[in-house]
Amino acid sequence: MSALVRIENLEKRFDISGGFLEQLKFESGRVVRRRTVVKAVNGVSFEIAKGETLSVVGESGCGKSTLARAVIGLHAPSAGEVWFDGERIDTLTPKAMRPYRKRMQMVFQDPYASLNPRLTVRSILEEPVRMHFPGLSDAQVRERVAQVMRQVGLDPAWAGNYPHEFSGGQRQRVSIARALTVDPDFIVADEPISALDVSIQAQILNLLMEAQDERGLTYLFISHDLSVVRHISTRVAVMYLGCLCELAGADALFEEPRHPYTRALLSAIPRLGADPAKRVRLTGEIPSPIHLPGGCVFHGRCPSARERCRMDVPKALDAGDGRLTACHGVEEGWV
Ligand code: SF4
Ligand code: MG
Repeated sequence: MSALVRIENLEKRFDISGGFLEQLKFESGRVVRRRTVVKAVNGVSFEIAKGETLSVVGESGCGKSTLARAVIGLHAPSAGEVWFDGERIDTLTPKAMRPYRKRMQMVFQDPYASLNPRLTVRSILEEPVRMHFPGLSDAQVRERVAQVMRQVGLDPAWAGNYPHEFSGGQRQRVSIARALTVDPDFIVADEPISALDVSIQAQILNLLMEAQDERGLTYLFISHDLSVVRHISTRVAVMYLGCLCELAGADALFEEPRHPYTRALLSAIPRLGADPAKRVRLTGEIPSPIHLPGGCVFHGRCPSARERCRMDVPKALDAGDGRLTACHGVEEGWV
């Protein structure tokens, strides 16, 4: 498997302490300075092979969007490395990063928010083409945009219209067209269908999959919708509180989940004929990413937790079959 993208021990923290005065607290009669840091992504490593769709799943707040943004360079990682096509990119200057910006594109959840309402669709689509292909004539730029519009199912005659004149599904087609106009290798799609009506979600998914087939694209797909993920993914990564729990081929993961959190997540999907007694019900709340539990971050809610889980952070280990699982119980055979 040749990797297009590789992340190594990626961490992302956000300091949300506010201004200097807001950080000052009284503690036992003394003034101390306290910072509040959200630990959004905590040491995640994986590879994305050329042409595959790797999906990242997990409940909201598990760090999957932050991870995706760090991979594509929209967030600087707090620690760790991001590699793209054999080059380390998280340390590049904006100028050196420019060719990679063209090769890596993002489709956002909300096409309403990600398209500039004051620009026509023509301007929205032509701008990245002009930036990344400065040698093209006006006619060539227009032809390229028309071609991509046709590919995503939009009539090029609509290019003079503004985003608000389109439906939600059409707007998401515009976002996808914007990503495709610069001929990328890699697309990060962060919940690309969850803001859309159910009736058009399948159309947009099919569009993404057709574009992948035609152009040999590699996808990092972020979602909380497990049935969609099973349908479209080559492999699936499961995150909990900023940590990678498990990563496996889509069928293997859904048929035989190993990590206790994955099992709980999957057993929450209602299935015809499933034994309700076998549902894994999680108790307790998801802890705050400001005060991460020590050891395994899942230990407070894990039905299989043992003493070791409170002390040691489990490493994501390959069981020899290419699947990664970060769990002491899986490693030692008690889960
Ligand atoms: Fe549960 Fe322990 Fe495995 Fe964490 S390491 S998932 S607490 S068994
Ligand atoms: Mg998100």
